[in-house]
Amino acid sequence: MSSRSTGSSSQSDVSKARKVPFRRCYCGLSAPFSTSWSDKNPGRRYFGCQYWPNTKEDCGFFEWYDDEVSEWYKEVLNKLKPKKKSLKSEGTEDREASVLNHVRVMIGLFVIFMIMVLVLLCLLLKG
Ligand SMILES: [Zn+2]
Repeated sequence: MSSRSTGSSSQSDVSKARKVPFRRCYCGLSAPFSTSWSDKNPGRRYFGCQYWPNTKEDCGFFEWYDDEVSEWYKEVLNKLKPKKKSLKSEGTEDREASVLNHVRVMIGLFVIFMIMVLVLLCLLLKG
């Protein structure tokens, strides 16, 4: 039994495309919609002059699109950002970790060995 769709998939959804926010800066150009990743406003969207980092051309237009970022949201997003700690001085930690892994493997093998000995002993005692 197969359930075929009767071709009712509506194509009208395409016309319902979300409105892209649009602003014009003082230059009369469309202001790009971007997302801030500063520590103060992580993930907060804004409009700015498309010439922005170029201070000669920039008309100074700037407008937030989102409301101010709440404190917990800032915290979460700042935690998600990759940390800039240098990973160079981890050689010794690496060695320690590998030793620990070695010990764990040895303990695992030892446990398995003990279980086998116990099973063998049980079998010997029964037989
Ligand atoms: Zn501009």
